[in-house]
Amino acid sequence: MAASRIVFLMYHELELPGRKLIQSEPGYVRYILLQETFREQMEWIKSSGFHGLSVGKALRYPQEPSVCITFDDGCETDLIAAGPVLQKLGLAATFYLTAGFLGDPGYLSPDQVRELDALGFEIGCHSLTHPYLSDLSDLDLRREIVDAKLRIEEIVGHPIEHFSCPGGRYDSRALGIARRAGYRSVATSRFYANHAGTNPYQLGRVAIVRGLPLDDFAATCRGQGLWKKRVQDRARHSVRQILGNRAYDRLRSSLLGESSR
Ligand SMILES: [Zn+2]
Repeated sequence: MAASRIVFLMYHELELPGRKLIQSEPGYVRYILLQETFREQMEWIKSSGFHGLSVGKALRYPQEPSVCITFDDGCETDLIAAGPVLQKLGLAATFYLTAGFLGDPGYLSPDQVRELDALGFEIGCHSLTHPYLSDLSDLDLRREIVDAKLRIEEIVGHPIEHFSCPGGRYDSRALGIARRAGYRSVATSRFYANHAGTNPYQLGRVAIVRGLPLDDFAATCRGQGLWKKRVQDRARHSVRQILGNRAYDRLRSSLLGESSR
């Protein structure tokens, strides 16, 4: 029997008609889907017979065809735009929250986090202030990984077991701290499907970007074509190694800004 492979999808803020996005830079908007596009994708998942799972459920690697649905950042649209679509279709999901942003304009309030939790969605942690973990001292890493966990646990009143890395950046120190803090998994932004043999502290995840045709989305859910994304990702990674995170971000936003004009 073939081992079951599960693609973990990564979403961010969703766009609702007439509602301003939290940020407007091209590098941010690239990861923002219209609620309507998100609905089409979720309907495709449902009609194709896939199960939509939270991270906790996905880590049991059921044999039935499944995708894992995750959101980063803790935007208010998690509750008001994504939640209703998922609920209507009976799909589960994990929402990774940036603990220090809760209550800020555009982000979930603590009450809304409790509401999302009460609806049965899984709540995870996406750091305290959204820095690149690989740039931090050990002390700051503990704040971002451990203190953030405690802060969200205080809000929901139960353990938080899953962490996702801001901007997909991490190193072995960050992973070690997460494991010792009691997290059961850490999600990255590496383009691979996960299976029972995957290190739960280095889960692959595929960012769903604006303008992705539905056929490509379907292929992604089936785990097809991820190697192409891996090749592009490796190229980006080498440029980043040479330039450093900050210079890389400047270069990226100027390139994206030009191509979107
Ligand atoms: Zn993020």
